[in-house]
Amino acid sequence: MDDGVNVNGHEQSQSQSRKKNKACAPCRHQRRRCPSNCPLAPYFPADQEQDFLNAHKLFGVGNILKIIQACQNSEQKRMAAQTMKWEANRRADVDPVYGSAGIVWDFCQKIQSCQLELHSLLHQLALYRPQSQLQLQHQRQNVNYPISGPLKLDGEGSPFPDQNHQNDGS
Ligand SMILES: [Zn+2]
Repeated sequence: MDDGVNVNGHEQSQSQSRKKNKACAPCRHQRRRCPSNCPLAPYFPADQEQDFLNAHKLFGVGNILKIIQACQNSEQKRMAAQTMKWEANRRADVDPVYGSAGIVWDFCQKIQSCQLELHSLLHQLALYRPQSQLQLQHQRQNVNYPISGPLKLDGEGSPFPDQNHQNDGS
């Protein structure tokens, strides 16, 4: 029990001192001391250096700083930094030409293709609908015929011929 507490306490103090000593990725890149109120440190920590390098390549440190400082609250700043990192990583790793716009473009094309398919299916459905209605009418007529047929035959031919003869005779 005591060992666990000591180990956890040791780890916590180690990570705290690491955070204090390590400059954020932008300050490290610019080889300057990272101040305690560094505006980029919360969004580009030292262990996300590649994310920063990609964002720096695409936007530049000055523009990243301008965009983050133009945000009104910490949530907007966090989202803006996340968006810049995502866009920069997408361009660096997957699509250097279109970046995230390539995903939007792909989805637009899929939507267009699905709309064309839907239009074609609705057109086919409109063509088959009158035929199926005619078939339904024929089926209803065929079902009615055999029911009315035997009833007429029963009325014409008596099931008890002997009784008729007995009635005539008496
Ligand atoms: Zn910094």
